[in-house]
Amino acid sequence: MAKPKVAFYWCASCGGCEETVVDLNEDILKVADAVDIVLWPVALDFKRKDVEALKDGEIAVSFINGAVRLEEQEDMVKLLRQKSGLVVAFGACAHLGGIPGLANFHTRDTIFQRVYKDTPSVENPEGTLPQERTKIGDIELTLPEFYDTVQTLDQTIPVDYYLPGCPPPPDSVMNAVNAILSGQLPEKGTVLAPNKALCDTCPRNETKPEKLSIKEIKRPWEIKIDSEKCFLEQGLICCGPFTRSGCGETCINANMPCRGCFGPVDGVVDQGARGLSAIVSLLGLEGEEKMTDEEVEKLVGGLEDPAGIFYRFSLPSSLLRRKRVA
Ligand code: SF4
Ligand code: SF4
Ligand code: SF4
Repeated sequence: MAKPKVAFYWCASCGGCEETVVDLNEDILKVADAVDIVLWPVALDFKRKDVEALKDGEIAVSFINGAVRLEEQEDMVKLLRQKSGLVVAFGACAHLGGIPGLANFHTRDTIFQRVYKDTPSVENPEGTLPQERTKIGDIELTLPEFYDTVQTLDQTIPVDYYLPGCPPPPDSVMNAVNAILSGQLPEKGTVLAPNKALCDTCPRNETKPEKLSIKEIKRPWEIKIDSEKCFLEQGLICCGPFTRSGCGETCINANMPCRGCFGPVDGVVDQGARGLSAIVSLLGLEGEEKMTDEEVEKLVGGLEDPAGIFYRFSLPSSLLRRKRVA
């Protein structure tokens, strides 16, 4: 019997999600044995025309990581959608926009200005910027369009399942592959991780306070972190209250607060807004024991880079989507 065809593709991605596939270790051999890989740009030399030659729906599943930033990426994921029975948004960038999605705090023009003109290590006296079309003699060279706004995968094509994480842990990848191969799949649209907050599974949960009595927010390098106590109790912002569980508490076990890469639980449309409201309610800015204005200012002032804290992985999927420009 023919093996199911599987494709892996990367868009605006750091390569870490590809790394997690390699980190399957010996399990990668089981995957390679059970499926026929028809596209994997990071590891195998298949071309776009190989995908074009397949029948519509012939690929059983395409795992696509990275956000959608370029015209080429949009074209390729549309082609993969056409050729695939299932599409899985693989990792935080495809799922929510991820780290590349933070570029939505800027515009294409300001990014080009910084990267090709202002960066101290760049020498570009004529201020040349990348062009979509360049004529050299009779030859025309082309580059894909660089979009102004980074998109999640499901803002570009319909997505069947989501594997969260930056990157998704290898065991959750293996579970997803096994579920797909055995046909034991949940309802379409499911995020393939438990629908509960990280705090619910965190080994430090018993030390998590109902209300925080801290007067100052700290950054991890500023204190000696107690490896038993909830980070919030120590004045460190931890995204556990507004982040989905399923990563195995990777950062917590390394004595670092959660940064939110698994995204929100079902039903939360804006992880950043949920996070802001969760942290502010814990801070006790309201209620009987009111803080003075100075104390509030000092406390909130300690939230350096709030956009980066609360929207680190999810800006393109948020209600904001991007910074508004006049
Ligand atoms: S989800 Fe994380 S590991 Fe995967 S491509 Fe994005 S930044 Fe890299
Ligand atoms: S806030 Fe962080 S450290 Fe505290 S219980 Fe939740 S996940 Fe654990
Ligand atoms: S602890 Fe948070 S940031 Fe770290 S892997 Fe888990 S969900 Fe991602």
